[in-house]
Amino acid sequence: MARIIDGSALARSLDAQTAAEAAELKSRHGIVPGLAVILVGNDPASEVYVARKIKGCARVGITSFEHRLPHDCSEAEVLALIAALNGDRAIHGILVQVPLPPQIDPARVLGAIDPAKDVDGFHPVNVGRLSTGTGGLVPCTPLGVMKLLDTVVDDYRGLNAVVIGKSNIVGKPIAMLLLEREATVTVTHIETRGLPEIARQADIVIAAAGSPRLVRGFWIREGAIVIDVGITRVPGQDGRKDRLVGDAAIDEMAHAAAVTPVPGGVGPMTIACLLSNTVTASRGAMP
Ligand code: NAD
Repeated sequence: MARIIDGSALARSLDAQTAAEAAELKSRHGIVPGLAVILVGNDPASEVYVARKIKGCARVGITSFEHRLPHDCSEAEVLALIAALNGDRAIHGILVQVPLPPQIDPARVLGAIDPAKDVDGFHPVNVGRLSTGTGGLVPCTPLGVMKLLDTVVDDYRGLNAVVIGKSNIVGKPIAMLLLEREATVTVTHIETRGLPEIARQADIVIAAAGSPRLVRGFWIREGAIVIDVGITRVPGQDGRKDRLVGDAAIDEMAHAAAVTPVPGGVGPMTIACLLSNTVTASRGAMP
């Protein structure tokens, strides 16, 4: 059987480390890490994500500041709030929950965040640093993927990695992180031809397409590692609860070396990495 990589357990141990670092920042330097979360409108999924992030902050000793703006607020209002938070010494991380309403340009908003406080790692300066291997804050889901992979891979040099999905927030940064470790990376997307054959060449497959059970068992070669980033909510039938389904049919992957489950794989690591990034950003405030 393939080893199941337990993302919930790894997230708990990362949280413990983050909490210890936050406590040390407070006792040694008097810095209490602060995260500002901006939520525009009341998208139900965003409400759930924001609530989880705020709960996570409390768990590890980060002070959270929730800023809610109405659905019809202007882009100027969001930019003014970001400018105020950029200048606020109690705030070390700023997160704008996406999606934003149509009157607000996400690129302009994300680009207005001070790169040193950009705990989501979406600012062009941090994207540039990641692609040139020169540090900066790394997007949370890709960072979580690498930490999960690190539990089963010692040396990435020369391994074939296939990333399915090329979004700015998941696929592309994962590809950059794998390249940094000297893996040979193929980035694929909806227009890629012959994806099953390409995936079959891989030592590592990262599925980040948002297409339930896209990656089948016969796409995966014996001994490969499969990290499933995809999350699709499938409505429950006959009064049953909704289910979260990944991009990989892991029940067909007994021949893989290791796989991540959905839920309980990448998802918990994303929030743990956000908290860890906030403490990293807080260190920038040390004298
Ligand atoms: P996106 O829609 O921005 O990008 C999807 C990418 O997958 C695109 O590049 C597209 O070309 C590609 N794609 C779609 N269908 C495909 C197919 N059939 N074959 C090959 N490529 C295909 O999505 P995203 O924001 O990158 O998110 C991807 C998935 O990851 C979603 O399910 C999302 O919910 C999930 N996600 C999970 C976490 C987490 O914490 N676990 C975080 C972010 C995103």
